[in-house]
Amino acid sequence: MFSIGLTGGIGSGKSTVADLFAARGVPLIDTDLIAHQITAPGGVAMPLIASEFGQDFIAANGSLDRAKMRALVFADDTAKTRLEAIVHPLIRAETERQRHAAPGTYHIVVVPLLVESGEWKARVSRVLVVDCPVETQIARVIRRNGFTRDQVLAIIAKQASREARIAAADDIIVNDEAATLDTLAEHVDTLHARYLALAAA
Ligand code: ADP
Repeated sequence: MFSIGLTGGIGSGKSTVADLFAARGVPLIDTDLIAHQITAPGGVAMPLIASEFGQDFIAANGSLDRAKMRALVFADDTAKTRLEAIVHPLIRAETERQRHAAPGTYHIVVVPLLVESGEWKARVSRVLVVDCPVETQIARVIRRNGFTRDQVLAIIAKQASREARIAAADDIIVNDEAATLDTLAEHVDTLHARYLALAAA
């Protein structure tokens, strides 16, 4: 099983790069999507979250009240640890299920916090980092999410540094201001060929 762990800071271009691999037929396993699904109405994490945090954190439709939980865990590291103790094992289990079911020679696992959480690095065959300057991240997230500069900076401050991410990388795609979809696609083509060869070896 050949797994590429794709990571990068907020706004670095992970989703953009992941989509380029998907367009080449590479199966994608998206841990953010899994996190969303297990906390959607009827999601496997919901009974556990309700008993740990109370009904206050459950929205009317039965999903996680994301805004409320985001505010709590942003301010309270203990709450973050309690939430992670519930969701991380479930995300891991579902990721493993999808990895084993994935067709093809290799697959991509998108893990935004791969460097921060440590354990993922041991679970993948290689780490691919999408890298860009912090100022580029800020500009993109302001544009994409309508956040203020301070909001983006606060999120970036909670993530691994650019240097830590690069240090953990086996492969790096530079997605800075000079990068276009065409240049990204060229990088992805080169890596795709490399991964096919490595997976077959
Ligand atoms: P991430 O998944 O890492 O948060 P995205 O792939 O969603 O990042 O990219 C963040 C935003 O920046 C998106 O709106 C995306 O379309 C845009 N973007 C990403 N890379 C580029 C690029 N090379 N040039 C212009 N816009 C980009």
